[in-house]
Amino acid sequence: MPDPALTARTISVGETRDLAAGLAALAQPGDLVLLAGDLGAGKTAFAQGFGAGLGVTEPITSPTFTLAQQYRGRLIMHHLDVYRLDQLGEVAELGLSELLDDEGVVLIEWGDAILPVLPNDYLEVRLGFAVGAEASDDERRIELRSVGVGWAHRQVSLLHALAPWADAPADTPAERPTRQGRAGEGPPEGAPC
Ligand code: ADP
Ligand code: MG
Repeated sequence: MPDPALTARTISVGETRDLAAGLAALAQPGDLVLLAGDLGAGKTAFAQGFGAGLGVTEPITSPTFTLAQQYRGRLIMHHLDVYRLDQLGEVAELGLSELLDDEGVVLIEWGDAILPVLPNDYLEVRLGFAVGAEASDDERRIELRSVGVGWAHRQVSLLHALAPWADAPADTPAERPTRQGRAGEGPPEGAPC
């Protein structure tokens, strides 16, 4: 039975990167992190922050056209994007088991699409656009789910790392100063002024 999901909310790409950097501090050799969520949800942004947290200094770009990219930090970070893989068979070409054996950390964008070929031990990070009349374009909900023992042992540390962005309970709407009057955010078209 997997642990219950931990949820967080960020209101800028910088916050998502900071959240990811905090999680990177918990990374151990051989870890697998699945990044799930629609196009533009922030999977690559998360990977950028995670890399920064590992001490990667080179720019981390979307690996959509290269499938896998490696970055050197405290641990090697393998960054994959399997969005354009048509068949599970193609995953074999990635040499995933070698990557996982490599004492590095493997982050896979759209990893939930290839679950059958992945080990049953990973951290799922699901990014979603916030919904609702109050939600800004830059707001994201982030859910963390530990599958298998590797990350489940770090559940308390995960909770601490997420604390600054913990999702407020529904009955106590969080008001952060930065949410107010952000540049470029006019009223929606047709809204009364
Ligand atoms: P994906 O890899 O999931 O397709 P990207 O990380 O490439 O998504 O893009 C996310 C886009 O959303 C970027 O342009 C980023 O600046 C923007 N963005 C706005 N708010 C956020 C947020 N809270 N978290 C992550 N990205 C955000
Ligand atoms: Mg991406």
